[in-house]
Amino acid sequence: MYYPEPISKLIDAFGRLPGVGPKTAARLAFHVLRMREEEVMDFAKALVNVKRNLHYCSVCCNITDIDPCRICQDKKRDASLICVVQESKDVVAMERTKEFNGYYHVLQGAISPIEGVGPDEIRVAELLRRLSDEQVQELILATNPNIEGEATAMYLSRLVKPFGLRVTRIAHGLPVGGDLEYADEVTLTKALEGRRELN
Ligand SMILES: [Zn+2]
Repeated sequence: MYYPEPISKLIDAFGRLPGVGPKTAARLAFHVLRMREEEVMDFAKALVNVKRNLHYCSVCCNITDIDPCRICQDKKRDASLICVVQESKDVVAMERTKEFNGYYHVLQGAISPIEGVGPDEIRVAELLRRLSDEQVQELILATNPNIEGEATAMYLSRLVKPFGLRVTRIAHGLPVGGDLEYADEVTLTKALEGRRELN
């Protein structure tokens, strides 16, 4: 099948998104074709704006439109606690539990020797800087319960040992091999309550 260039370009673009196969990409592209022009413009603007207007928080490395982000600016939170997560969407998942009142650090990834992602490719240096500056007493490692997440948690627990902090790992109730973002609030709350010491 040979489509006219504008539509084949759009199919290619959709096809580069995670989890979108060629059939779905074509279906989405033809859906766009049937959308009203204002709808398409709004969609295109949302795509451009997410790149232009979002930055990484200079403190926690979460995505934000203001710097520091709203959570880092919130003085009512417990400065002795930092919860380390892999992705921005994990912060949303943790916030939904309404159980955690500390601050976050978003690694923007996880260590993966298979995919060649080392500690320098994620926001580890920024975390270390915070540990020397701030009044942190406990680091909660809430990386995903899969190989990359576990490897990252182990690496971090060893790395921060000289700081003499309490280092805990959420574990209980989370399905192994799962993603934090798909856990429901109850499971995630239980995981937080059941965190264990790592060093
Ligand atoms: Zn922040």
